Amino acid sequence: MDSQNDDTPSRRRLMGGMTAAAALAAAPAMAQQASPAPAAQPAPLAAPRDPRDPREQYPRPPFERQPQEWPGLAGRMNPRPDHGETSYRGSGRLAGRKALVTGGDSGIGRAAAIAYAREGADVAIGYLPQEQADADEVLELIRKEGRKAVALPGDIRDEAFCHQMVETAVRELGGLDILVNNAGRQQTVASLADLTTENFDWTFKTNVYAPFWITKAALPHLRPGASIIITASVQAYEPSAALFDYAQTKACNVAFAKSLSKQLAEKGIRVNAVAPGPYWTALQPSGGQTQEMLTKFGGDTPMGRPGQPVEIAPIYVLLASQESSFTTGQVLGASGGSGFP
Ligand code: NAD
Ligand code: MG
Repeated sequence: MDSQNDDTPSRRRLMGGMTAAAALAAAPAMAQQASPAPAAQPAPLAAPRDPRDPREQYPRPPFERQPQEWPGLAGRMNPRPDHGETSYRGSGRLAGRKALVTGGDSGIGRAAAIAYAREGADVAIGYLPQEQADADEVLELIRKEGRKAVALPGDIRDEAFCHQMVETAVRELGGLDILVNNAGRQQTVASLADLTTENFDWTFKTNVYAPFWITKAALPHLRPGASIIITASVQAYEPSAALFDYAQTKACNVAFAKSLSKQLAEKGIRVNAVAPGPYWTALQPSGGQTQEMLTKFGGDTPMGRPGQPVEIAPIYVLLASQESSFTTGQVLGASGGSGFP
């Protein structure tokens, strides 16, 4: 176990007895950020399994404006997202499995990749070349668990690259048991008149075509017991006005799981979707929200805050593990109390 996952009673007492500001300064996940978050922000728990009011567990809005060029870097966000770097604790639920996570450099995919490694899996991550700095942190964390980490930079809008990415993952990992189609593009455009064909196509290529190409390439390698997961969104059910193209692709992702699960049951392969609500990830400051919306991000959920990527990682672990053997064609959510499913 990673020594940073210190869950001793004395450490719990220490963190529990601190003021929010002092704990924030000491909390490892937040300590990585370049400039500290406002003192009013609560610290993540040092011992994540201790009961605690979830509303107070992570930062709440208002957030600072922080524009980034797409696709954005988690390493430049303030506060830094908690992807489980120091907070996720595994218990061998995926021992010996081999997983490919697209968009595994940052956000929800990074949280899934870290959790999978902590649960005993070897993990390959896909990402864009301009995200190498984020990816390097994840690759190092996977290796720190004594697991194999495979880097797969490239653009999944290219069918040939999707095929090559899967082949490399299978060769380097020595097989494939878990495929997480998680990479995604979201750009807010207020008016249909301003949504260009190029952008519409970009969103669909990334969110709809790529999972099709990647899954098709992976299928010959998957055996009974394998699990395919796709990251959909509450946007599939409650589309925002300014996410016209994105919301449609996320509805496609739900149908992907519903249809393919029926097709692959006879091969003993399960297919499910995850539908996150608002999560504090690089996708949001890099065009997923306007900067004005970002300052209030997550504030309209009953929890009053956005989710942190680590908070949805357990769903990816559950769906990948044999423990959810009768769960297929389902959509699981974690959205702070609003939205579907
Ligand atoms: P993120 O930006 O951290 O992750 C998305 C990743 O997609 C990027 O890191 C990038 O590596 C990858 N990607 C995008 N275009 C690519 C391309 N052309 N080629 C290769 N890789 C590409 O953001 P995130 O929020 O963690 O997003 C992960 C998934 O979660 C996405 O499918 C997104 O639609 C979904 N989602 C996010 C939220 C949220 O609030 N953050 C809510 C619902 C659903
Ligand atoms: Mg990224």
